[in-house]
Amino acid sequence: MRRPFIAGNWKMNTTKADAVALASALASGINADANADVAVCPPGVYLDAVVAAVSGSAVAVGAQNMHHEASGAYTGELSGGMLQDIGCTYVILGHSERRHVFGESSSDVNKKVHTALALGLKPIVCVGELLEEREAGKTADVNSEQLYGSLAGVTAEQMANVTLAYEPVWAIGTGKVATPEQAEAVHADIRKFLAYRYNDEVANSVRIQYGGSVKPGNANELLSQPNIDGALVGGAALSAESFLGIIAAA
Ligand code: PEP
Repeated sequence: MRRPFIAGNWKMNTTKADAVALASALASGINADANADVAVCPPGVYLDAVVAAVSGSAVAVGAQNMHHEASGAYTGELSGGMLQDIGCTYVILGHSERRHVFGESSSDVNKKVHTALALGLKPIVCVGELLEEREAGKTADVNSEQLYGSLAGVTAEQMANVTLAYEPVWAIGTGKVATPEQAEAVHADIRKFLAYRYNDEVANSVRIQYGGSVKPGNANELLSQPNIDGALVGGAALSAESFLGIIAAA
């Protein structure tokens, strides 16, 4: 039985005061016996403050990205060691905005996945097709290419610390949510990929989140699909009320 996992990606939003207030509201709003793992991924500059705000609660903290090298002349970047040093548990890797706005390839994502796992950080590895790729019937090819590339060299044992997120790019921040049937079909394909690439145990245990305009009103139907194990939430994670509503749906 896979435990649901709900993560909030705050992207480049909030002030420090808003980030701390949101984190504190979530920390006090989530029961320790909630039936889901919960994480928030604030902007890098507020990670430390958010780690302090959720300390002792059931809310974990993740970063939105990291560099694959341990240190050096990489102006503007944060290393995985820095994230771990300040108390991050998770790191989102290969988000579609990193892939399509900043030009990250699956091979870039793969280097980060290896560094994160070596440090004990748990990666949330995102994959997803563009609208034109879906319309051209390439959804399965695009997702399996991104999965193969992003997970190259990752062992079956290491997969115990990896979460996957299927985020159709056309549904992110657009209000156009994939139907539960569309999302479930891709999640089921990803699980088949895991069985083929690894084994049944990995396929049955790795959590696959759905991301793309998840809201309290549509979370229940999406999360009740057999292969959807949680959500990676953007816009609706910026309000405690709506994020707690999604957690309640899980
Ligand atoms: C995301 O950023 O990963 C995301 C799914 O955003 P939204 O929920 O706003 O579509």
